[in-house]
Amino acid sequence: MNIWRVAVLIGVVWGAFSFTHDSSSRVYHVINIDKIGPEELDRLKQNQAFEWWTELDDQMLVLSEEYVLDLNQSYQTLPVVPKPERLYLVRNGHSRDLNGLDADILASGGKSSVIQSRSDKVPDLSCLQKDKGSNMPHSHAGLFIFEPNRVLVKQSKNSYRIQKKKLWNQDAPINLEALDVERWLDATTKLSSFHRNTKGEGIIDARNWLVDELGKLPGVEVSLQEFSVGNTMSYNVIAKLVGSQRPDEWYVVGGHYDSTSEDPLIRAPGAEDNASGSAGVLEMARVFAENPPAATVFFIFFSGEEQNLYGSKAHVERLIEEGDADKLKGVINMDMIGYAKGDTLGVLLETEEVATELMQLLEDSAAEFTDMEVSTTFNAWGSDHVPYLRKQIPAVLTIDRDWSGYPSYHKTTDTIEKVRPDMAAEILKMNVAALSQLAGLK
Ligand SMILES: [Zn+2]
Repeated sequence: MNIWRVAVLIGVVWGAFSFTHDSSSRVYHVINIDKIGPEELDRLKQNQAFEWWTELDDQMLVLSEEYVLDLNQSYQTLPVVPKPERLYLVRNGHSRDLNGLDADILASGGKSSVIQSRSDKVPDLSCLQKDKGSNMPHSHAGLFIFEPNRVLVKQSKNSYRIQKKKLWNQDAPINLEALDVERWLDATTKLSSFHRNTKGEGIIDARNWLVDELGKLPGVEVSLQEFSVGNTMSYNVIAKLVGSQRPDEWYVVGGHYDSTSEDPLIRAPGAEDNASGSAGVLEMARVFAENPPAATVFFIFFSGEEQNLYGSKAHVERLIEEGDADKLKGVINMDMIGYAKGDTLGVLLETEEVATELMQLLEDSAAEFTDMEVSTTFNAWGSDHVPYLRKQIPAVLTIDRDWSGYPSYHKTTDTIEKVRPDMAAEILKMNVAALSQLAGLK
């Protein structure tokens, strides 16, 4: 999304968007959803004293009449005078990007924040991270009109569904024993040793290494898909494992192998972003090559992601051109799977309505086979699942929940010792189990 277009859009829509109440007697409360639980959460959404609410992971932000909630310390009242006409939703590339905005951050969760501008001006996004030599902010970030009464990010533990109904088929075969986290770490280490900027030379070495490794796997057909990013020729690496029983039912496991930094032409190790996810794709190719699936699975390493999702767009375009889009039943994208701040591990599943079932399968898979906490959102942007969703193909991003606090995000310091195998292992278990359910084993 081009942010200048967003700014114009905001101006245009403004007239249709008015707040009728006087703001003087109102406050913003941020309620801790973890502490109140799902029943209280539902009840609060009906609270007449709230003009609106929004749900962001473990936070519910409400605009409320000024009174004390009966919630036993489970909320805080923000010291910000409400000016609802100055609210925006920011899809932040990273939490540190918000520090330079002339705005108060009211609530954050997943990959989004609700902010209130400190003036009548639309906040200036030019402080967001820029690629060196470019005047444009990083393509992943953007500013949007804030729409209240929406769940932006939901925690699975605060939903009833996971307790009530499991999509999981207990009798279906899965193969978690074949998953080898040491092997994943070796691959992540190797990939982060290449300088993988889309326009650099090291990415060709990384591409060749992937082709060699995939070529060693039984039954795997390896190919390259060429496309251009500006005047640079770029390549997706595609490994195809033809299904033994349902060859025309397709799944994609993907992740980008290009990387960036504040100095992308010099050095961009991208260990977490996204050697971790592309090594995850390779690990899953290895697991499923040993245990061939009934349906066809493509393992795809995208390039040009950091320049605006070029590789995944090229793949989707080719699917459509060749009349194959209907065969593709689901896409699992791994982008940043190896970072966690503390002892509690978490994953964010990000998609749109079209992939509700795929997302629920992943949620169930996480509940069944891992100890991690799961958050879900239908607010999808900024990674290789998006081009598929734009064409109504079910696709889900699986990303470690703490990624936006990763200090080395898009920096030359994004190096191998910062990735955590315990985090990646949880996401890989979830994805291997879910793909086993979808594609089946022979
Ligand atoms: Zn990435």
